[in-house]
Amino acid sequence: MWVPPVPIGNGVVFLGIITAPRGTADILPADARRWHELEEAARAVFDAYGYGEIRTPIFEHTELFQRGIGEATDVVDKEMYTFMDRGDRSLTLRPEGTAGVVRAVLEHNMDKGALPVKLYYMGPMFRYERPQAGRARQFHQVGAECLGTMDPAADAEMIRMPATLLKRVGVTNFEVLINSIGCPRCRPAYVERLRAHLADRREQLCASCRERYDRNPLRLLDCKRESCRRLTEDVPQLVDSLCDGCASHFQQVRAYLDDFGLPYRLAPRLVRGLDYYTKTVFELVSSDLGAQDALGGGGRYDGLVETLGGPPMPGVGFAAGMERILLVMAKYRPAPAPKPVDAMIAHHGAAGRRIAVRLAGEWRDAGLRVEIDYMDRSLRAQMKQADRLGARLVVIIGEDEASRGVVRVRDMATGEEREMRAEEVFQSLMQKGG
Ligand SMILES: [Zn+2]
Ligand SMILES: [Zn+2]
Repeated sequence: MWVPPVPIGNGVVFLGIITAPRGTADILPADARRWHELEEAARAVFDAYGYGEIRTPIFEHTELFQRGIGEATDVVDKEMYTFMDRGDRSLTLRPEGTAGVVRAVLEHNMDKGALPVKLYYMGPMFRYERPQAGRARQFHQVGAECLGTMDPAADAEMIRMPATLLKRVGVTNFEVLINSIGCPRCRPAYVERLRAHLADRREQLCASCRERYDRNPLRLLDCKRESCRRLTEDVPQLVDSLCDGCASHFQQVRAYLDDFGLPYRLAPRLVRGLDYYTKTVFELVSSDLGAQDALGGGGRYDGLVETLGGPPMPGVGFAAGMERILLVMAKYRPAPAPKPVDAMIAHHGAAGRRIAVRLAGEWRDAGLRVEIDYMDRSLRAQMKQADRLGARLVVIIGEDEASRGVVRVRDMATGEEREMRAEEVFQSLMQKGG
C-alpha cells in the first residue's frame, strides 16, 4: 500500500515504505531453495523426455492471446493485463505460456524442422484475478508443448510428465482427471444438443452461464455454482458424442495410461478454461489445495497452430502452477537447509582484515563457501556467527598471526585449534570435497 508523504518538520518528509502490488509476492532466499528444488526436478524430467527449454517474452501483442486463447474466455475477457505502450501498440502480459511458445515456433520456422517440436518453459504469468491462497496476479507456471504429432502416446506422456514431476518433489496426494472434448467434426453437434437440452432452463442459470449458453456453452459444464450443477446434472455427455476418430484416440490414450500404471478418473464435465483444446483434456488435482484444487492440466490443441497463422499442425501440452505445487510440497517435506559454510575467516586488526578479504576471494574462486565479517565484530562474536552459519572451520587472523604469516584454525566440531599456513588450510578444505 502506498502511503502519502507526511511532513515531519524542518522540510523533512516521511515517505513511508512502498509494498509490493496486490497479488504479487516476493520469493525470499529460504523460499527460493524450494523453488530451486522444483525447478531442478522439472528440468530433469523434461530432459529425460527430450524437451528443450524455450524462454519467450513476458509481454506479447494482445492479438496473440485474443486469437490463441479465444475471445469468449474469462482469461481474455476479464483477466488480462493489457496496456498501450508509448508507441501506441496494444501489449499484454502473458496470461499463459502456450500461445507465446507456438508463436515462437512459427516465427523461427521450427515447424519446418524435425518433428515433433518438444519444448518446455517456466516463468511468471499474469492474470487480473481476486487474490487468494493458490491464486495470485503474478504467478508461475511450468509447462511443456509437443507440436507436430497426433500420436495418442504423446497425450499419454503429456499426462505422465507432470505426474512424474509431482512424485519427484514428494507430492503423492493427487488425482489425474481426463476427458475428451472432441474435435471440430463432432463437437458442434454436441454443443447443439447441449443447448437444446438446456433451452427451457436457460433463465434459471447463473448470469455467467446464461452468457456461456450463447458464446461458449461447453463452459457451462464446469460452473462451480451448486444451482448450475443441479440444472446441468442430466445433460448428455461429451464422451458419448465423439466421432470415431476422437473415440479411438481417447481409447488409445487411456490404454497407454493403463500400461503406465498411472491411475486416472474419467471426468465427463472437465472442459478446461481455454478455447483451443481438442480431444484429450486433463487435470491433476489435489485435495491438499482446498477450493483451488488444480495443480495443473492441459490437453490437445490440434487447431491452435493454424489459428495463429501457421500450417495445420497438431499439438498437445500441459501447464502446472508452481506456487500451488510448492504449497503442497511444503506440507510433506521441510524446506531444504542452506548449504553449510566451508570456512569463516575471522579477523582482527587492519592487517588481519586485509589478508582475510584476499583469502576469502581466492578460496571462493576455487568453489569454497567462505564467509567473513563486515561489521567490525569482536573475534568472539565472529565465532558465534560461524557457529550460526554451520561453518566447518574458522580461520582466525589477528595482528599476531598476520605479522607471522600464519593463521589459527579452529575445527568447529571438535573445538581443536592449531596454527597453520593459509595454503595448508586451503589444501585441506579442497581435499575434504569443498
Ligand atoms: Zn471428433
Ligand atoms: Zn453457472
